[in-house]
Amino acid sequence: MSVALAQVYGSALNGQSKERPALAQMAMPLTMRLAVVQCRGGESILRRLFEPLGYIITAESHPLEQQHPEWGQSDYFTVTLTATLRLSDALSHLYVLIPVLDDEKHYWIGEDEVEKLLRFGEGWLSRHPERELITRRYLKLKRLVRSALAQLAEEDALDPDAVEEAHAREEAEIEQHLSLQEQRLGAVLAVLKNSSAHRVLDLDCGEGRLLQLLLAEKSFSYIVGLDVSHRALEVAAKRLRLDQLPPMKRQRIQFIHGALTYRDRRLAGYDAAAVVEVIEHLDPSRLAAFERVLFEFSRPGLVVCTTPNAEYNVKFTTLPAGKLRHRDHRFEWTRAEFQTWAKRVAERFGYTVRFLPVGPEDPAIGAPTQMGVFDR
Ligand code: SAH
Repeated sequence: MSVALAQVYGSALNGQSKERPALAQMAMPLTMRLAVVQCRGGESILRRLFEPLGYIITAESHPLEQQHPEWGQSDYFTVTLTATLRLSDALSHLYVLIPVLDDEKHYWIGEDEVEKLLRFGEGWLSRHPERELITRRYLKLKRLVRSALAQLAEEDALDPDAVEEAHAREEAEIEQHLSLQEQRLGAVLAVLKNSSAHRVLDLDCGEGRLLQLLLAEKSFSYIVGLDVSHRALEVAAKRLRLDQLPPMKRQRIQFIHGALTYRDRRLAGYDAAAVVEVIEHLDPSRLAAFERVLFEFSRPGLVVCTTPNAEYNVKFTTLPAGKLRHRDHRFEWTRAEFQTWAKRVAERFGYTVRFLPVGPEDPAIGAPTQMGVFDR
């Protein structure tokens, strides 16, 4: 039996597993072909994930660029998985493990994902030697990983110390992450508070942390959070408890679903815009469109823009040299690169710009985050 990737995925996602055909209740020889799948970490990850479940694997890797074999292999593979299993079990394995293989889940992970992972992992995940890797990659959000690992540990009486140790490691990572983020948001808030801005945009508000701080300040009479990700907006709305806000406060905040690379009339007429850790997520070829959308059409009086300082990356001991801080980053600029860009943009659109370091500054390599404040 051969199943194309799209069909397998489609049936699992549509929840049709509730009414599985009788055939699917029986263990039978299955061959599943994944026409192309990204395996971050290469073939060994593929084997670590599927072999413990009894699959025989063949994997054919694809070159990065067919015209240039000297560039080496990509992490895309055509994979065949063979095993004697119930179809429903095989579908559950694929449902959980394909996102784990490509490790691309991002921005749209909510509480319900823990429930999904446990439901589809029932009967096999708690015994899988790589359950921790699977849980981490599947859920990404450390808070959720903790909850899922705890539930899996209960299911399989996992060594509680090992779980605790994993929690402690995560906590340290979270602390570090939070403190950088807190410093960044604190710095942006300080600039906005010191300006006379009342109507403020948070351009790509993400999961709404800055919005929360802005809403707590009465001087910001109207706040708009925009993001291209629906999921992020949902999380932000939950974080702010929008539906429970008193009417006066509720009136001060609005969400917009939109992209920063398309002209949008809804963004005109604001005193200030925060653009925090966003430009590095845009494709370089779309930066020019973003510049016009923000500085020409939206044209707020003040723009506060932050981005990572690539020079500072050497300080992150867990980050391999030359790697970007986040997989979705399209680039990370040195201070000179950011300043050249910002000065050019300011000049073209009639703004002045000044630069501020955010976070602990090292005389040689600068601070972890760089900030440009554009004034009209
Ligand atoms: N300002 C927030 C979010 C930063 S993450 C914070 O500091 O936490 C970057 C955000 O950019 C994400 O919320 C993502 O949804 C958004 N994004 C990614 N690509 C985009 C694009 N092409 N256009 C507009 N927004 C994008």
